[in-house]
Amino acid sequence: MKVDSSVELKKVHAKEIINYLKRNKSCTKKVMAEDLSLSFATVSNICNEMREKGYLEETALDDTKVVGRTPKGISLNYNNLMSLCFDLTRFGVIRVAVADYSTRVVYDDRFDYSHKSSIQEVIQTCGSIYREQVLKRFSEDQIVGVGVAVPGIFEKKTHNIVSSEIELFNNQPMKEMLSQTLGKTVYIDNESNLCVMSEYMRENLYRNQENIVYLFADEGLGIGVVANGKLICGSGGYAPEICHMPIGNMQMQCHLCSSMGCVESDLRIMGYVEKYNLYSRKQIASFEEFLELWGKKEETAVQVLEENAAILGRLLSILNNIFNPDCIYIGGETVGLIREVIEKSMEQVTSRLLVQGNVLPEIKMDADCSATVLCGAAEMVFSQWMPL
Ligand SMILES: [Zn+2]
Repeated sequence: MKVDSSVELKKVHAKEIINYLKRNKSCTKKVMAEDLSLSFATVSNICNEMREKGYLEETALDDTKVVGRTPKGISLNYNNLMSLCFDLTRFGVIRVAVADYSTRVVYDDRFDYSHKSSIQEVIQTCGSIYREQVLKRFSEDQIVGVGVAVPGIFEKKTHNIVSSEIELFNNQPMKEMLSQTLGKTVYIDNESNLCVMSEYMRENLYRNQENIVYLFADEGLGIGVVANGKLICGSGGYAPEICHMPIGNMQMQCHLCSSMGCVESDLRIMGYVEKYNLYSRKQIASFEEFLELWGKKEETAVQVLEENAAILGRLLSILNNIFNPDCIYIGGETVGLIREVIEKSMEQVTSRLLVQGNVLPEIKMDADCSATVLCGAAEMVFSQWMPL
């Protein structure tokens, strides 16, 4: 990192200290200075400043080996290091949570908005939730930032949301709109990126996995990829994008780009419904109806799921060959169906391995992806927030 002034350097050291304390819970300034290769005076000054802001607290160290005056330990004051998270991935729903620096969720609730709402009304509803619900439980100072998960891409150059399944979010500067309404720093990203970062933080901590793919099959189809420990986002923030990959059913038209055969048309929630209607004289309107027919093993529903299992297999095979991941996570509303047919999909992956006999990636189903999204949103806030 290029640092060009002592003020900037102090900010960087403050962040290092916060991250160190996240890993080490509690320790003395002396030990911290040694481990971070900083002078005792630097650590002490920065710690004092952060204590005044309420981010750190002194704790008694339970160390019987020390004779005489017991040195005080320093630890994070989790109570004052909270992130407010909004999950806006589901049309009509705002899931809100507050998580502390260890991403432990301390408040969790959901609110609905009408499908006819304008973007201003959705933003205003987020504002009301913050003022009327969150600030009833926490003070403004306890919240260090706001993390927002959206379906769609946060375009780096314009700061607009683009290519969103939720039409009313498209081409809207939601980061700026929410910052203004909430009076807080807002960080915003795509739900798949947040999910993969959330899993990566967890996996990397326990198992040193540096290559992870998260496939999010919900109202839309997206992926997040961490390769060699880095989130892939591309020059404009568009990568990695898979939804228009032409490996789907060529009779189905993409509702976003109008082409035939885009994989998202098959594997998104409404894809199951549309494909059912393509094959059956009986017409259905909702995913719930499809699930019910599948539950009864109705012929067309079984046919739809078998075809989608093969398409998913092709997609997983491509992802495996491009990224060579340790693990592929699958999350979203369709995960229950995917679980039923994943073995069929994996046959495709096995038959198209780069090196036959190569180890297959681990496949994990994320049953509660909304919790993963919220965790990822909190991680995003804490990783970008600067304490000083
Ligand atoms: Zn398309």
